[in-house]
Amino acid sequence: MQEHWQSALTDMRSRLSAENFETWLAPIGWGGCDGHKLRLRIPNKFYADWIRTHYLDILLTLIRDKSGMRDLDVSWEVDEQLAEELTKMEVRTRESAPPPTMPPKAAEPPRVAANLNPRYRFESFVVGPSNQLAHAASIAAASSPGARYNPLFIYGGVGLGKTHLVNAIGHRVLEAKPNARILYVSAERFTNEFIAALQNHKMDEFRDMYRTQCDVLLMDDIQFLAGRDQTMEEFFHTFNALYHSDKQIVVSSDVYPQQMKEMEERLISRFQWGMVADIQAPELDTRVAIVKKKAEQEHIDLPDEVAHFLAETVQSNVRELEGTLLRLAVKAELLKQPIELAFAREALRGTNPPRESLTTVDDIQRAVCEYFNIRMSDLKSHRRHRSVAQPRMIAMYMCRQRLNTSYTELGDRFGGKDHTTVMSAVRKIEGRILSRDAEVLASVQAIEHRLNRS
Ligand code: ADP
Ligand code: MG
Repeated sequence: MQEHWQSALTDMRSRLSAENFETWLAPIGWGGCDGHKLRLRIPNKFYADWIRTHYLDILLTLIRDKSGMRDLDVSWEVDEQLAEELTKMEVRTRESAPPPTMPPKAAEPPRVAANLNPRYRFESFVVGPSNQLAHAASIAAASSPGARYNPLFIYGGVGLGKTHLVNAIGHRVLEAKPNARILYVSAERFTNEFIAALQNHKMDEFRDMYRTQCDVLLMDDIQFLAGRDQTMEEFFHTFNALYHSDKQIVVSSDVYPQQMKEMEERLISRFQWGMVADIQAPELDTRVAIVKKKAEQEHIDLPDEVAHFLAETVQSNVRELEGTLLRLAVKAELLKQPIELAFAREALRGTNPPRESLTTVDDIQRAVCEYFNIRMSDLKSHRRHRSVAQPRMIAMYMCRQRLNTSYTELGDRFGGKDHTTVMSAVRKIEGRILSRDAEVLASVQAIEHRLNRS
């Protein structure tokens, strides 16, 4: 199996840019193989995320082809030694770079916040109506830690940017106060460290680290503590110690404080002492901006229409949106093709799990306009004449049926209408279909047919 792994790496080397290969794939160590599971050693846990979103599909496909083994799986092992080698390498590249102009007195080396994700900064966060409250609160907490927005509680669904914001706060505090002691920790890791400390009689050290040696505590995914009474108790005291010495506490969760089952009342009430800010799923415009920003960061050449297409196709979750873009980019790089709309459609068709339909709101609007022979501007207008009102309602209905787009978003997409207008249009068409209205049925079928053909 190791040969197949090596040979897959060689393939990747010839296909990827040298920089990408050296940065991401070269540092991976082979750790052996248990049955269908490849053990890969990595310098730190961010590698696992990165490789999973960027290269894993392709690596596994290559290895499957070479080995003939079907269901391959991967487990990741963080290897301290690899991390050390990597640091040495970085130091060497830095040393070989032209020397920076030295200040008269050698400056203190900046504290490395090793467990903050370097990519999650305010600069790389796209703000839109869905997240502006959480963003503003995060900026405020970062600019005057321990003051008004303390604790800051950020909640929102999976993949909507909580971890990103929490890390960004850490970076921002460090920029202003390079010696601030920032502790970013997931509730899961906090739990594991707590249990280990108990077992190894190291509670003093544990408490010293979290209660005394910490200026800003960034606790991610607090919902993990629910039902873990002892850890919750410990966290409660950690919280009090920090809070009463005016240290900033930031907590994220994928549920609203009051809906956290099996979370202690007194913790829940403390979370509400400061500021509670939510993040909603982003609207289309924000999604487009996010895709473009990611493309720019990753040096991916992404035409506007493809950015738009991706943002329409992946609606609910930014992580998935990002993953889709990155997989598309890797595919284009491997096949040495430019990322064009046709290529993107084709590439997404073959994704796993397969998408039911790659139709977008645009597609439906276009098909409806063609079928009824009306202009797009009429479809999106406020005109009430039956010749445009009926097609408009049908288009709204079909978007809802096929794409399950939210009423609010549909309102935006149809020229800025209220969500209640969309809702009543959808109901009306549903009613007509239930009563077997021949005209409406025929139109919907014909448009469906058009869409399925394209
Ligand atoms: P959560 O912690 O809420 O599950 P993450 O913070 O891990 O979500 O976000 C998932 C991915 O989406 C990350 O790569 C993050 O950078 C990206 N992301 C989410 N929201 C935004 C945004 N508004 N702008 C830029 N990137 C975002
Ligand atoms: Mg997270």
